[in-house]
Amino acid sequence: MARVALVTGGMGGLGEAICIKLVALGYKVVTTYSPSNKTHESWLATMKDQGYNFAAYPCDVSDYDSAQECIAAVERDIGVVDVLVNNAGITRDMTFKKMDKVNWDAVMKTNLDSVFNMTKPVADKMVDRGWGRIINISSVNGQKGAFGQTNYSAAKAGVHGFTKALALEVARKGVTVNTISPGYIGTKMVMEIPKDVLDSKIIPQIPMARLGKPEEVAGLVAYLASEEAAFVTGANIAINGGQHMS
Ligand code: NDP
Repeated sequence: MARVALVTGGMGGLGEAICIKLVALGYKVVTTYSPSNKTHESWLATMKDQGYNFAAYPCDVSDYDSAQECIAAVERDIGVVDVLVNNAGITRDMTFKKMDKVNWDAVMKTNLDSVFNMTKPVADKMVDRGWGRIINISSVNGQKGAFGQTNYSAAKAGVHGFTKALALEVARKGVTVNTISPGYIGTKMVMEIPKDVLDSKIIPQIPMARLGKPEEVAGLVAYLASEEAAFVTGANIAINGGQHMS
């Protein structure tokens, strides 16, 4: 029977590529969108026209109750989640001098609390079934820090700690927990950076002298979700064109 993969933020740049990759591999793919998202129906229709069938549920991943309701609906309609990809995320960049509590909290809740909120209702059931994959999308900036991103770097660094701690707790139960840390990938989130900043400051830091492609990240997700990756847990896999090696 096909495994159920839940990808948060599937209508974003990386999420869409991950959904497409997993559905092509035979997973039943479920995604989430923000309750305020008004484009989910047109996105689903476009995907259907391209031959991809996804189920989609409203879910504010930053809100514990919303996450629990979402998982309950997925389990009721589709089945228990075998592969969870915690991908949804935001940036609210500003120097620490300008950083206020609202922008700190928004990023911590969406990028870190969300990982707890979504993992909590699925992890025990994965343990009970003796199989599961939890794949957290962090960032190179959670590994090395980034100017103007105290909130984002802290939240993404927190994802690494979460991953390693939970990986220890479920290691004997057939459940793996891993992090992927992309560098700069050519999605909306990155294309919103002014072009002159991209060209003069960001691309020159990347030894491969280009942005990554969402499909390249999706390929890593597919690997971590696979049977072949059963011995990989608590790992962080960097995908950054050589920008940061550790
Ligand atoms: P996008 O901005 O394209 O997509 C982000 C997705 O997150 C959207 O689908 C959005 O859904 C969803 N989302 C945001 N807030 C919430 C919320 N509160 N509840 C539910 N969904 C939410 O970003 P990317 O695809 O570029 O990024 C995906 C992940 O990869 C993020 O975690 C990001 O931090 C990480 N990353 C990206 C890099 C890059 O270079 N692009 C580099 C390193 C890491 P909706 O549209 O419905 O609001």
